[in-house]
Amino acid sequence: MVDYGNNAAGAAQREKGANSLSRNQAIVFDALKRDGNPMKAYALLERVKDEGVRAPMTVYRALSDLMEMGLVYKLDSTKAYSVTSSAASDIPVFLVCDTCGNSRMIGSEQLEEAARDSALQNGFSLDRLRIEVTGYCCSKSA
Ligand SMILES: [Zn+2]
Repeated sequence: MVDYGNNAAGAAQREKGANSLSRNQAIVFDALKRDGNPMKAYALLERVKDEGVRAPMTVYRALSDLMEMGLVYKLDSTKAYSVTSSAASDIPVFLVCDTCGNSRMIGSEQLEEAARDSALQNGFSLDRLRIEVTGYCCSKSA
């Protein structure tokens, strides 16, 4: 038996959070959402310059706030930032290339189920899950 109640509540909370962002937070969040793929802070700064957000500290502060709200996630492996999820049922899976450093986000319901079941079997109720997978997106040079 799988209880999705917590997940739905969490998603609703995250959605509510997205609607009450400050101007800078909204600009940074929208830029990340538009791109869809994880972005490093300096690339993000380039993206939001035209919208009047020019100070790196402003971007970092907005990112930090967004992470606290659960809207943005920072990848351990590449230090790139990504929106956590757009759909309530989507568990973000980040694919990170060891060769070129590119990363992108996909969603996987199968992985969510497996992780949720494993957690439950160990007496743990899963709230939020993110998965980082490292590997190769392009042909490895011999
Ligand atoms: Zn690659």
